[in-house]
Amino acid sequence: MTTSPARLGAPLVGTPFIHTLRIGVDIGGTKTDAVAIAPDGRIVHQLRVPTGFGSSAVVTTTIAAVAQLGRLAGCNTADFRSIGVGIPGAVDNGSGRVSHAVNLGFDGLDLGVELSARLGRDVRIENDVNAAALGAFHLLEKNDSQSMAYLNLGTGLAAGLVLGGKLWRGSRGAAGEIGHIPVDPSGPLCLCGQRGCLETMASGSAVARQWPSTDPKPVRALFLAAESGDPLAIEVKNRLVENIAAAIRILVLTVDVDSVVIGGGISSLGAALLAEVRRVLGTWATVSPFLASLDLAARVEVVPADFPAAAVGAALVGVA
Ligand SMILES: [Zn+2]
Repeated sequence: MTTSPARLGAPLVGTPFIHTLRIGVDIGGTKTDAVAIAPDGRIVHQLRVPTGFGSSAVVTTTIAAVAQLGRLAGCNTADFRSIGVGIPGAVDNGSGRVSHAVNLGFDGLDLGVELSARLGRDVRIENDVNAAALGAFHLLEKNDSQSMAYLNLGTGLAAGLVLGGKLWRGSRGAAGEIGHIPVDPSGPLCLCGQRGCLETMASGSAVARQWPSTDPKPVRALFLAAESGDPLAIEVKNRLVENIAAAIRILVLTVDVDSVVIGGGISSLGAALLAEVRRVLGTWATVSPFLASLDLAARVEVVPADFPAAAVGAALVGVA
């Protein structure tokens, strides 16, 4: 795992190449991150604003973030080379329509059309996990001969696939939606209508259901409680880690990607999470020569903390 200091360089003063700047906006449930990227891939401006709730507030937030980047770069939004947006929900990346954006307070929005009309230029829209996958691929300096899955562990669980340097969305955009593979037929009912989906076992919401906590970082609190010997915390943590390992196994067995990069809120556990996941994968390898031959543990990485993968990926998506 490598960080990319060259690409995460300090903002330039008096940006001299405004017509070449690519803008990426990552709309999250509570905050929106935006970046401006230079032609060589460096982040030259970066900002974070709170996300408004509801369709019109989300549009307003995005416009405000782009305008603020324009002020930082000393140019009009029309001067940027491209603008891309990552957003949670089902995204038709051709039309820019967003559906099922439950956490943002709307079910259907022609975000691409709205933003293009307001900004007077094309704006490309992508699912946030797909955007983060592309951003992580870029920031971790993978090359096009390497395949990568980005496993997003946040409130939910989903993956984005980058194959041959490009996103693989599948025929209907469902590629990587492994969070809705049922792994326990008698498990809890999932929002998708099935029972015992992987997402109900290995996500922030899975931890919240099994180990309620008021801690602002509940998964970190779970790991600490398990470390101090709390029997329930140990059980819930082990279940979480085993199912994260199962997600990695699914990704390798279906796509055989070179690497699986863990991102999302739970990835902030960093080395502690990586060690636990590798421990489980190593245990499986001791009983299965087949899994041992796949060397799963060596393929897993965790994104560095405060890694703006989704916003950077959105900027890359913005280039047709
Ligand atoms: Zn489901």
